Amino acid sequence: MYEKGDISFIDACLNQTAAPQDVESYVEYWHTHEVNCTLREYLGMSAEEYASWVKRGDDAIPEILQRRGSCESAERTPPAYVICPTCGALIRYGRRCQYCAVRARNVR
Ligand SMILES: [Zn+2]
Repeated sequence: MYEKGDISFIDACLNQTAAPQDVESYVEYWHTHEVNCTLREYLGMSAEEYASWVKRGDDAIPEILQRRGSCESAERTPPAYVICPTCGALIRYGRRCQYCAVRARNVR
């Protein structure tokens, strides 16, 4: 899922190929491999996002993704993303959560 840092954690989440809780795997990978960039760069966070994550922990990640998602949807029409209230995963609006099948439409 994280092939040589081709795609950052944040981008993978936005592409729905990773979930917020996967951040642990990314951090683990960064610590155990010769990744030629900072952890912040590897995760694909801005300085502000990284500071928020360091300060608040993994709870900050869904918010970062939601902000990114809503920025994107301002440029194109959907996808907008919502956060699953049950597991915290990022869900494309109107889809079911892939982890617990909560439908995002009902989540707002
Ligand atoms: Zn869920």
